[in-house]
Amino acid sequence: PGPGGSPATHLHARHRAVMPEWLSLYYREPLELTHGEGRHVWDAHGRRYLDFFGGILTTMTAHALPEVTKAVSEQAGRILHTSTLYLDRHMVELAERIAALSGIPDARVFFTTSGTEANDAALLLATSHRGSNQILAMRNSYHGRSFSAVGITGNSAWSPTSLSPLQTLYVHGGVRTSGPYAHLSDAAFTAACVADLEDMLGQTHGRVAALIAEPVQGVGGFTSPPDGLYAAFREVLAARGILWITDEVQTGWGRTGDHFWGWQAHAEHGPPDLLTFAKGIGNGMSIGGVVARAEVMNCLDANSISTFGGSPVTMAAGLANLTHLLEHDLQGNARRVGGLLIERLRAVAAGFPVVREVRGRGLMIGIELVEHDGSPSPEAASLALELAREEGLLIGKGGREANVLRIAPPLSLTITEAEEGAAALETVLQQVQFTIAGKERP
Ligand code: PMP
Repeated sequence: PGPGGSPATHLHARHRAVMPEWLSLYYREPLELTHGEGRHVWDAHGRRYLDFFGGILTTMTAHALPEVTKAVSEQAGRILHTSTLYLDRHMVELAERIAALSGIPDARVFFTTSGTEANDAALLLATSHRGSNQILAMRNSYHGRSFSAVGITGNSAWSPTSLSPLQTLYVHGGVRTSGPYAHLSDAAFTAACVADLEDMLGQTHGRVAALIAEPVQGVGGFTSPPDGLYAAFREVLAARGILWITDEVQTGWGRTGDHFWGWQAHAEHGPPDLLTFAKGIGNGMSIGGVVARAEVMNCLDANSISTFGGSPVTMAAGLANLTHLLEHDLQGNARRVGGLLIERLRAVAAGFPVVREVRGRGLMIGIELVEHDGSPSPEAASLALELAREEGLLIGKGGREANVLRIAPPLSLTITEAEEGAAALETVLQQVQFTIAGKERP
């Protein structure tokens, strides 16, 4: 151990001394992960954890997936140039596969290094194509942290500045847990949100460029609008030539089980005009990207807008990962295992009033925690995170009030692992319930 205690404690002190204060870390004693395999990761003390969160962060299929490791090391040993000025076989093939999967007719693909940059590129395209910097975004949304991405992020905890190069109007429909429409039925909620959108557009000067929306709000706490809500929006937008950008950074690649992309739950009026992706496609390598109809993608009068986007190593990783995902039907696995997990968690939660709701789709499951009076309990969520770690389980948290536990394991999660995780969460919720009820922990 170093001077500050264990190696991880010492590293934490060094992190605090040199990195920005706003770079938050999970856990009172932050975790240093050293390696992973399948659905498990190990910390610097050699402790093993079942990873119920890495899937949403970057590990889409499995930790240390052999095909990805092989592709990365082979490519790194061959050529590491990072310029879009030269042809790259993996890039073209990955773009072809993504274009075909996207559902967007005559699709073009442009690679970036992150989700933020993908959304930036989508905004650049949409605003240029429409000649307008007016954007519609959803309340409680999260789209990244560049200057323009925070300007379309409705969740104020993640939007550190109110200055923005865009004029953003926030629309109802993303979050159903609070606000005036919270208690409406699906049909009434959809009708209210559509009426609100039409009313807003009726009062807006000039052209609106696009609406950007997450099919399931990720950082916002895994809340989904009723199926078909965005389709209803789409009809209103399309009639006015307003583009629809679907942010699939968390919902893409089959995570929601029933669909390959989140937008497909809202598909009646056709595919979106633009789709952004990132995170898991590289299984840890930084890949983001935007897909758009050729007419929209080609509206820029410019040379390439990235150096690192689509570098050969990340493209080789993405291709190996996507191939694995499709060949092993991990979307089907997300549907089956996610379906069982959500059922099991609902049964567990029924015994604990601290749980307001267990919601989700596929392997994207949120557990919302509340106080006795039904108000959001960020304290319960923080406690649950710590206790889960003690149980050997990594989970995430989110929601506007930071009171939602987020579960998003790698898509290869097995039924046995789902059962193990659910059992650990039962223990966690039991202890959280005791604490919230003002009793001692057992
Ligand atoms: N969009 C959504 C829906 C996200 O969840 C995130 C990341 N949490 C982003 C965009 C930004 O992606 P990145 O962190 O790769 O920039």
